[in-house]
Amino acid sequence: MATITALPTAKISGGGFLIEERTPEEVFTPEDFSDQHLLIAQTAEEFANKEIVPNIEKMEHKDFSVTRELVRKAGELGLSGVDVPEQYGGTQLDKVTSAIIADRIAKYGGFSTTWGAHTCIGTLPIVYFGTEEQKKKYLPGLATGTMVGAYALSESSSGSDALNCRARAKLSADGKYYLLNGEKMWITNAGFADLFIVFAKVDGEKFTAFIVERGFPGFTVGAEEHKMGIRGSSTCPLILTDCKVPVENVLGEIGKGHHIAFNVLNVGRFKLGAGCIGGARNSLESAIAYAKQRKAFGKVIADFGLVQEKLANMAAGIFTGEAMAYRTVGMMDAAIAHLGAAHDDMVQVRKVIDEYAIECSILKVWGSEFINSAVDETVQIYGGYGFVEEYPAERAYRDARINRIFEGTNEINRLVVTGFLLKRAMTGQLPLMAAIKKLMDEVLSGARDEGLAGPLAEERRLVAAAKKVGLFAAGVATQKYMQAIQDQQEIMGAIANMVIDTYAIESAVLRAEKLVARNGETSAANAIAMTRVYLAGALERIESAAKSVIAGSAEGDMLRSQMAILRRLTKYEPFDTIAMRKMIAARVIETGKYQVV
Ligand SMILES: Cc1cc2nc3c(=O)[nH]c(=O)nc-3n(C[C@H](O)[C@H](O)[C@H](O)COP(=O)(O)OP(=O)(O)OC[C@H]3O[C@@H](n4cnc5c(N)ncnc54)[C@H](O)[C@@H]3O)c2cc1C
Repeated sequence: MATITALPTAKISGGGFLIEERTPEEVFTPEDFSDQHLLIAQTAEEFANKEIVPNIEKMEHKDFSVTRELVRKAGELGLSGVDVPEQYGGTQLDKVTSAIIADRIAKYGGFSTTWGAHTCIGTLPIVYFGTEEQKKKYLPGLATGTMVGAYALSESSSGSDALNCRARAKLSADGKYYLLNGEKMWITNAGFADLFIVFAKVDGEKFTAFIVERGFPGFTVGAEEHKMGIRGSSTCPLILTDCKVPVENVLGEIGKGHHIAFNVLNVGRFKLGAGCIGGARNSLESAIAYAKQRKAFGKVIADFGLVQEKLANMAAGIFTGEAMAYRTVGMMDAAIAHLGAAHDDMVQVRKVIDEYAIECSILKVWGSEFINSAVDETVQIYGGYGFVEEYPAERAYRDARINRIFEGTNEINRLVVTGFLLKRAMTGQLPLMAAIKKLMDEVLSGARDEGLAGPLAEERRLVAAAKKVGLFAAGVATQKYMQAIQDQQEIMGAIANMVIDTYAIESAVLRAEKLVARNGETSAANAIAMTRVYLAGALERIESAAKSVIAGSAEGDMLRSQMAILRRLTKYEPFDTIAMRKMIAARVIETGKYQVV
């Protein structure tokens, strides 16, 4: 198994970035990919270009025989069994590899959804919670793609509120089966999957997962939904009518289904984030190609500053997204490597991933919102052609939308980010309150930052300031609302927004610093420009979110003095982002693709 042993584990895992200083050497970036990573990236990209892209039209028209064949081919190439142990037919590679494949395969939303549901939520419950017999029976088929998996949690009346499901399970009189009754809704791959992880409440109370084969008596798949996007994927309801599930197909413990339901979503979320970054890269490259050949006013539209601005923003977002995604999976791999002999123990691996639930939710929210902005700007660059079906921009725009809804809506994931941070703070796993107190004391004493040196010193100072702004605003809100902050959703959401952007800017700055250290400032000029462009926008958003949190938590003199502190923390000279965007755009236009250097 390939693991990133060179990196130290974070001193504090999930959310630790808010209070820990990290150095560039301590984070994993795409520039650290091994030869094996690069080879897998190439395999996934070739598979996407040669096998997926030529078959898009067939999949859009629901020729699922093509989809199944592609799932099988992906399995044959070793792209589907990365998270499955070798003894059950997988390749058991590191989480960086998982993210790379999700990123590079993402050339078409319909297939990415199919493949993502199959390899993640359809397979991982058995990897992490299955018995030896269940693993032996099902994992080889899933890992090699001869069998397709699906995950059935949502119901028509319970999506976000999934534990409130109505599906029921009752032990049969002879004690050999559970009889499942109820319905499930919006199940990806349902039209052709062989195996379903189905959640139901035993005796109406104990939320439990079951492994259900398509052929089990009483199991029916309903009609395909007519969707806005990802039309190449299958989405159907399931109907369970005294569906006979052998007792040996109970997954995990009776009444502990929530561990399964929520745990695998973490992997789903980081992979979705990586896939969104890959999709945005694809969208950028389509936008560049179009902008280079479409003429208006006697020029190609790529010559216009307002078009260049869009291309540059997309490139800066991709640079930042890659930095966040690979930093996150790098942290997981380092922690898994530090398990030593236990790194093969899937229970331990699952616990490590669970530690990074905050970062997984960050990637999900950030990635899905970034791809939505990228496909939107691509439609804009295509102009009228962006609005018609014959051009890829229209489909990509529709396909991207779902990412903000499934794997936990972005509202739920924002609540996870802030809620988990507060929970970790309360349980002492994250000394957040101590950090907030230290900051408050520092702010009141008027202490100033010590000078930082190096080409990205100002950017580092700004990241440190952004952390302070977030901590300060969170401190003001927690002082006012205490435990009841959980009920202040707008404040929880605004804190999440600050945390997400802070993780983004820190990841981008660390990546740029690493590039400077390795290749020198001149070679890293494009990376520095992308970092600054993203940083400039993020600082404004962080300040704006902080203002709304503070104004929602204080009034009168208190509000005025807190706003004075905020102003002090957010003082900086603006970057010339116009010049930087021009430089970034020139590079992508010249080469026709996203470029780091
Ligand atoms: C194409 C597609 C594929 C899917 N694939 C699968 C699959 O394979 N397996 C599966 O189990 N499910 C799947 N789903 C279901 C998906 O996970 C749910 O649609 C999603 O979790 C949202 O649930 P909901 O639709 O019931 O919306 P609701 O939960 O009703 O939410 C509606 C709105 O209210 C907001 N909201 C809800 N609760 C809160 C709260 N506490 N605080 C603030 N805002 C809140 C939501 O964010 C959202 O904006 C799929 C859905 C689609 C459309």
